Amino acid sequence: MSARTGPSSKHARDVISKRVKGIPPSGIRKFFDILSTMEGAISLGVGEPDFATPWHISEAGIYSLEKGYTMYTSNRGLLELRQEVARYLNRRYGLEYDPETEILITVGVSEGLDLAMRAILNPKDEVISPDPSYVSYGPCTVLAGGEFIPVPTKVENDFKVMAADVEKRVTARTKAILLGYPNNPTGTVMLRSELAKVAEVARKHDVIVVSDEIYERLVYGVEHTCFASLPGMKENTILLGGFSKAYAMTGWRVGYAAATAEIIDAMNKVHQYTMLCAPRIAQVAAIEALKAGEAAVKEMVADYDRRRRVMLKGFNDIGLACFEPRGALYCFPSVKVTGLSSDEFAERLLKEEKVAVVPGSAFGECGEGYVRCCYATALSDIEEALRRMGRFVERHGV
Ligand code: PLP
Repeated sequence: MSARTGPSSKHARDVISKRVKGIPPSGIRKFFDILSTMEGAISLGVGEPDFATPWHISEAGIYSLEKGYTMYTSNRGLLELRQEVARYLNRRYGLEYDPETEILITVGVSEGLDLAMRAILNPKDEVISPDPSYVSYGPCTVLAGGEFIPVPTKVENDFKVMAADVEKRVTARTKAILLGYPNNPTGTVMLRSELAKVAEVARKHDVIVVSDEIYERLVYGVEHTCFASLPGMKENTILLGGFSKAYAMTGWRVGYAAATAEIIDAMNKVHQYTMLCAPRIAQVAAIEALKAGEAAVKEMVADYDRRRRVMLKGFNDIGLACFEPRGALYCFPSVKVTGLSSDEFAERLLKEEKVAVVPGSAFGECGEGYVRCCYATALSDIEEALRRMGRFVERHGV
């Protein structure tokens, strides 16, 4: 006899909070269950490097295990890592952060985003963010009690957010502007002069900027601008960075936040009760990445760039118009010539040609009519995917 008969279906329905129920499941993972059962399928879906972590970085992690360094670290993370992050931000962007008080080591930018939102938002506070944008931005805002206010962007501007469009959405309840450049899903990079205009709006209306710069190192022929390095913005920016993309360390789960001591204190308060600390082994590996990973980053970026060019040309050749993405790991071609919605396109392409892409609509309303394709996959797979997509477009093109 089982004393633990499951809850009644009514009870089960009521168990889950309204807030969580109101959040849609991530549109990215939807197709991947089908994909894993398909032989000969090619995935341009998941947005992560296809390189293994550079060996000397992995070795640092292994060595720390061998030495028995397997305990918690301080909540804020190993001081040596915070010092390395501060040095890195200084040599790259000329920024000065105090490693003792202004840097927090997080479980990836994912945790950094959650902490930032929970640290700054009061109920109903509004967060303005470009549409389309990374799938976590809306849910992280809502889970922290805030309201997510998307700002439409257009392909005519390469999906860059216009400062005037941001300003139109500022209200008395606006607490933050949440930016992610280089952008996921579009691959757009904003220039310093363009970001300076958004900074002006933030300053004028006394709004904090949360800047997700996970792709800062993945830029091709343009310079990345660190938002906090804009005049007067260091005190007004929560900078989120990480190791997942630049060093091919997605599974290690480590990143950092840099901001004023007051904000970092508040983020650390949430972090110490919910996460305690980032994994020690990953922190040790991250120290090695910052100290000696530069050559590997450059090599990987050059390789992504080659594949980016092949994919970009391929899409334009088969009639899927695509602007040039100058950062991250994605092309974002229009699929409007097929007359299919992004969702239909992705679903049919997977069924008919066994190629997985992510519908642009998963990233916001302005992503409708586009699909996100990741080029961090073997060149031969990119070429084969392009052939299959060419066939598909010929069949469905009007
Ligand atoms: N921010 C953006 C824009 C991303 O694309 C991703 C992962 O795809 C993340 C954050 C998550 O990064 P992390 O692995 O550091 O948690």
